[in-house]
Amino acid sequence: MYTHILLDLDNTLLDFDTSAELSLMQTFDEFLPKWSLDYLPIYQEINLLYWKKMEAGEIPKEKLRLVRFEAFLKEVQADPSKAQDMGQHYLQQLANKTLLYAQTTHVLQHIAPHFQLALVTNGFEEVQVPRLEKAQLLPYFDQVVISDVIGHYKPASQFFDHTFEVLGAPEKKGVLMVGDSLSSDIQGGNNYDLDTCWANFTKKKNESEHIPNYEIHSIGQLLEVLEME
Ligand SMILES: [Mg+2]
Repeated sequence: MYTHILLDLDNTLLDFDTSAELSLMQTFDEFLPKWSLDYLPIYQEINLLYWKKMEAGEIPKEKLRLVRFEAFLKEVQADPSKAQDMGQHYLQQLANKTLLYAQTTHVLQHIAPHFQLALVTNGFEEVQVPRLEKAQLLPYFDQVVISDVIGHYKPASQFFDHTFEVLGAPEKKGVLMVGDSLSSDIQGGNNYDLDTCWANFTKKKNESEHIPNYEIHSIGQLLEVLEME
């Protein structure tokens, strides 16, 4: 049975997609008087492209923050010199948003007494820390590992090396990695010889080569995986 659970934050415990969309719309309101809803998928596609580059170590985070808005503004034929301010405004909005899934707190309350919990997130420190505080999630975790702070992103093995070190080198077979991203969470866990649980709340088809041991469609189902109900 498991002794340690590694939990991703965004789109696993917090509804990041909704928070990001709200933050983006607030940012458009501020900077682009004539924006329309079809700007959202345009930005999201560009952002995903650059975010993957950052996770792969191809661009640093400072660059991501700027280039994703520059590329977006060019795409919608707006003034790209606004990119810096827009990027900053967006992150400020995001840092204020903590939409928990309905069952997140319930699940953490149930599992925290029985497992060592580590929060493992690819994100910016100045965004993730206030969100964790605001969502009142910190008390449940024995360790919090933020990629930005340690300089390595999931799925890199160095990210997991660091996590295992701060957890006191648990046995790998007792550790379960839970997250929504096939490329960072599931691939990272699989490569590190951990069991993995895919948080697939939007019921996507798995078209990747990364196969999880378990798949859940709500965070509440984690209790079934852990045989706690
Ligand atoms: Mg995630």
